[in-house]
Amino acid sequence: MDLTTRTATETAALNLFDRAADVLELEPDLRVALALPERETAVRFPVRMDDGRVRMFNGYRVRHSTARGPAKGGLRYDLSVSLPQLRQLAMAMTLKSALVGLPFGGSKGGVIVDPRALSAAELERLTRRLVRALGDDIGPDRDIPAPDAGTNARVMSWIFDEYAQLHGRPIANVVTGKPTELGGSPIRSGATGVALAELIEAAASRIELPLRGANVALQGFGNVGFAAARALRGMGARVIAIADVGGGVIRTDGIDLKSTQRWATEIGTVAGAPGTESIPAADVLALPVDVLVLAALEGQITRTNAAMVHARLLAEGANGPTVPDADRILRDNNVFVLPDILANAGGVTASYLEWSGQSLSLSEEQAQGFVRARLHDALDRVLDQAVQLGGDIRLAAHVLALKAVAAAARSRGVS
Ligand code: NAD
Repeated sequence: MDLTTRTATETAALNLFDRAADVLELEPDLRVALALPERETAVRFPVRMDDGRVRMFNGYRVRHSTARGPAKGGLRYDLSVSLPQLRQLAMAMTLKSALVGLPFGGSKGGVIVDPRALSAAELERLTRRLVRALGDDIGPDRDIPAPDAGTNARVMSWIFDEYAQLHGRPIANVVTGKPTELGGSPIRSGATGVALAELIEAAASRIELPLRGANVALQGFGNVGFAAARALRGMGARVIAIADVGGGVIRTDGIDLKSTQRWATEIGTVAGAPGTESIPAADVLALPVDVLVLAALEGQITRTNAAMVHARLLAEGANGPTVPDADRILRDNNVFVLPDILANAGGVTASYLEWSGQSLSLSEEQAQGFVRARLHDALDRVLDQAVQLGGDIRLAAHVLALKAVAAAARSRGVS
C-alpha cells in the first residue's frame, strides 16, 4: 500500500486493527497478512451519456480477505469514492461478516460518480460497463457485490444481467440485494435498517432507556435510514429530526416518515418536506435526543462535533461514521455507541440467506428471525467482551471479529 495515500479514516481503521491485534497477541505473520487487502482493482471506462458525448469514469473493487470464504461487500456510487476509503470499508466487511459468524470474507467497490446527476439510462450503461471492466473480479464464489450508498436493487439487476450476458447463463448468486423476481430476499432491502432498530432496542434496554416515547434524530434517509426510522417508530419511538445530503428537517412531535420519504424520492432531499421546519443538517447531530442514528457516510462525528452529541445512544448504521478521537469523547460523555461492524450487519446477514439460496425456503419471519438471532448473539458477546476491555464496545467488536478471521486463516495455513 502506498502510505502517502492513506487517509485519516484509513489510518484510524488500521490503528483499531492494531489495538485489536494487540489484545489478541496476534502472531506477526497474520497481523501483516490481515492488515492490508488481498487484491485491488482500479478500472477506467467510458460511458455514452444521453447527449451522445462519452465520459470516462473511475471504478474500483477492493478484496480485503477471503480467509473465511468468498468476499462480500457493497458497491457504492458516490463522489467521495476512493481507494483508501474502499480499503477501510473492505476490511470492515471482513470483520463484520466474521463477527456474526458468516462464511464470507470482505470487499467493497465503487465508482466516483454522483448518481443523482445521471439519468436512469446513463446509470444502467455505467453499471454494465463497470461489470465488463471488472470481468472476473466479481463472481458468486469470489466476490459478491450488494447495494450500498448510491446503489439499489435496480443496479443489482443490471449487474446480474450483464454478468449473465458475459457468462452465457444467469448466475443467481453473483449479487445479493436483487429484486425478489430475480431471486432476491424479500427482507434484504430493509434488513440493515430493521436489524439496526432491533439492536437499538436491545441496547436501549441495557441502559434502561425506554424506546416508547424516545426521541430519535437521524442522519441519512436512504435505504438504511428510512427502514430504521420506520422500525423505530413501530417500537414507539418518535423521529423528530432528519438530515441528509440536501439539509435538515425537524418536527418535535414526530416527522411523518411516509410523506417525507415520498418528498425525498421526488426532490432528492428531505429539505423542505411538508409539515417540517428547516434546520441546518449539522445541527441534527447536536439535538438533545435519546437516540442518534447515523445512516449516511463515514467521518461524520469528529473531534470537533463529538462533544455536541447529547444522545444517550448512538447507532452506526453507516460504516465508519465516527472517527477515533471522537470515540474517546463520546465514551467520556457516557454515550453508548453501537459500532458499525455490529450495528449494520443485518444487511450482509440477510444477503447470506439470499446468496446461499436459503431465503427461498424460509418465510419472511424465519429469515428475519435468523438475522435477529445472529445479531443479538453478537451483541451479547460484544458487551461481555467490552466488560473485559474497560467498556470499549468498538474495540470489543473488533477483537471478537479479528479473532474469528485469524482462526480461519490459521486453520487454512500457508504453504
Ligand atoms: P443510500 O444511498 O440509500 O442513502 C444515503 C443517505 O445519506 C441519503 O439520505 C443521503 O442524502 C445521505 N447523505 C449522503 N451524503 C450526506 C452528507 N454529506 N450529509 C448528510 N447526509 C448525507 O445509502 P444506504 O444504503 O442507506 O447506506 C447508508 C450507509 O449505510 C452507508 O455508509 C453504507 O455503507 C451503510 N450500509 C448500508 C447497507 C445497506 O444494506 N444498504 C448495509 C450496511 C451498511
